[in-house]
Amino acid sequence: MRERLAAMLTALATAAFVAAAVAWPISYRRAIGVAAFGPDGRPAAVVAAAGSFHVLLSDVPTGPMTAWTVDLRRGSRAAFEAERDTVVVAADRQWGDTVVVPPPVAMTPPTVTHNRFGLAAGFGRDPLGQPGTWFAYASAPAWLVVPLLSIVPATGARRWAVRRRRARAGRCLGCGYDLRGSPARCPECGRPGSG
Ligand SMILES: [Zn+2]
Repeated sequence: MRERLAAMLTALATAAFVAAAVAWPISYRRAIGVAAFGPDGRPAAVVAAAGSFHVLLSDVPTGPMTAWTVDLRRGSRAAFEAERDTVVVAADRQWGDTVVVPPPVAMTPPTVTHNRFGLAAGFGRDPLGQPGTWFAYASAPAWLVVPLLSIVPATGARRWAVRRRRARAGRCLGCGYDLRGSPARCPECGRPGSG
């Protein structure tokens, strides 16, 4: 059912928005993120660090031990600074922006990097000298990401408020037509009445 799917996607988007909003202030004190590993431990991660969000993707196998696991990653700001040379593949000092990747992916800098207005994207081949492998990352500042992520939850909340008001007034949930005279089906849009 389409409405059910929309509700599920809205719930997911709301969870992402809440997680990002919580991670934003934390990211100034420590790097925090979620890493998920696919077949042979191929990693994908979302990391919040220093006021930016970073998405990282790689086909470098980290081994069967990590395959199909999800893991919450935290690092102290001190550790983050100390390991900067190995865990950071791109840093834009001007924007105070940093890109962090899990250590297995981080040893080789990307061959392509773009960085503009706090946005960064990169692609690297053969990290760790493994021929035929690649990794990619993208990052954006939290002041851009968090408001964008709020669009879906805000729209969902507004829709929910409209429907609740219509339900209370005995109107069609779809179009707002007064259903008190014809509760079975909306004569305006054909939607079955809610009661
Ligand atoms: Zn209607």
